[in-house]
Amino acid sequence: MRKIPGDSQIRAKLDAVEPAMFHPMFADILAELEQSGGLDAMRCLDGQILIALDGTEFHCSDKIHCANCSHRKRGKSGIEYFHTMLAATIVAPGHNRAVSLEPEFIVPQDGHDKQDCESRAARRWLAARGARYAKLRPIYLGDDLFSRQPVCEAVVAAAGHFLFVCKPESHKAIEEFRAGIVLDELTQRVRRGKQWVIHRYQWLRDVPLRGDAHSITVNWLMIEIRDAHGNLRYRNSFVTDLPVNRENVAELAASGRARWKIENEAFNVLKTKGYNLEHNFGHGKRNLSTVLAILNLLAFACHTVCELAAGPWRAARRELVTRQGFFQALRIITSYLVFDSWDDLLRTLAFARPPPLGP
Ligand SMILES: [Zn+2]
Repeated sequence: MRKIPGDSQIRAKLDAVEPAMFHPMFADILAELEQSGGLDAMRCLDGQILIALDGTEFHCSDKIHCANCSHRKRGKSGIEYFHTMLAATIVAPGHNRAVSLEPEFIVPQDGHDKQDCESRAARRWLAARGARYAKLRPIYLGDDLFSRQPVCEAVVAAAGHFLFVCKPESHKAIEEFRAGIVLDELTQRVRRGKQWVIHRYQWLRDVPLRGDAHSITVNWLMIEIRDAHGNLRYRNSFVTDLPVNRENVAELAASGRARWKIENEAFNVLKTKGYNLEHNFGHGKRNLSTVLAILNLLAFACHTVCELAAGPWRAARRELVTRQGFFQALRIITSYLVFDSWDDLLRTLAFARPPPLGP
């Protein structure tokens, strides 16, 4: 190569690449994290790993579209085209990092609504990749869309466990079963900053997930948080195949609540903190928008692993304070200077050594 290829040349090359080619790299990145010991801080419930599943949009246009675009009505006459994926992200309660795994792209078929598409994508993900991650002893987290029998069965078939949000409105059978039973209960006073709040837990074992004869049985748990005046601040309920008891109910509820971290620590960072996941970098004719989204996830996974594991990277990030400031400095300094190694570059960024002299 004599010259660095331009934007449009790179786009044209990437458009032809099959997105699945990038999938094995996510497992490689995770293996690095595991070897460096960075994954241990994210283990919970006796050494298990939480993997949150959730759908997110990454390309949207009112003009450009392809056979794999989803579409919806916008305004009176307009149609908007978009791409979505089911993201799989390692999260942990009390931990502000998230590690992306390879996603499953949602290609809509006629007659399937959003719920159906996400549920199908989750089952495809589990069938194709569940085995690869089974050694992590994963517990899959998801919102109420996933707490249905087909997804629960797919998780168990992939040698995982599930801990899904279960709303009373959509799980009538559980509500009926629960009525009239005196539930096990645990109440804890918890200090939150200067204030005290009350956490109340209830749980019930071997509940039918739905009303018919073929229903699987699950364990149900609920958390309610009230302030010192008795006002309700938070309430959520979950279903799981894991045993629930007085000893683990609080940790199970905290783990189930870690699901929102996929919004905060992953999607929010990817969309607003310099990755521009939703920015229209280009749609291409075949795979470009999908390839660009997956490269974005790969970059995010690499950066998270660097922050959890590598010394010089962490030092450089600390000196430059914000994520965007760090990337900006990286771009500028490499426009002017050639570094002998990645390590030299990071140490210069961390002000630990002077920049190299010119040739
Ligand atoms: Zn498209």
